[in-house]
Amino acid sequence: MKDFRYLDETAILSLSEEKCIGCGNCRLVCPHRIFRVRHGKAEITDPNACMECGACATNCPAGAIYVNPDDGCGCAAYIINSWIARVFGKTPSGCGC
Ligand code: SF4
Ligand code: SF4
Repeated sequence: MKDFRYLDETAILSLSEEKCIGCGNCRLVCPHRIFRVRHGKAEITDPNACMECGACATNCPAGAIYVNPDDGCGCAAYIINSWIARVFGKTPSGCGC
């Protein structure tokens, strides 16, 4: 998955260290392995790899993660179109929004 990245500086992902209880759910469910847990707190290690699927926020029991594609670009269509274009040897055409 490391080659399948999102647009840099566009993902809306935030983490409240104060709320985090260090359960590790975010680390387990994130398909891009963006989180790690150190000293009982989660950390975001690679925010530009986030594709805003929302799995981390959905599975965080403390409400410590915020990710909401509706607040910004958040367009997973771009990255999916890019994958498809790559498979067919074409140039990505954008998200279509
Ligand atoms: S929204 Fe999805 S890709 Fe982004 S950090 Fe959460 S689980 Fe990972
Ligand atoms: S799922 Fe939430 S509470 Fe658990 S480690 Fe991740 S941010 Fe912290």
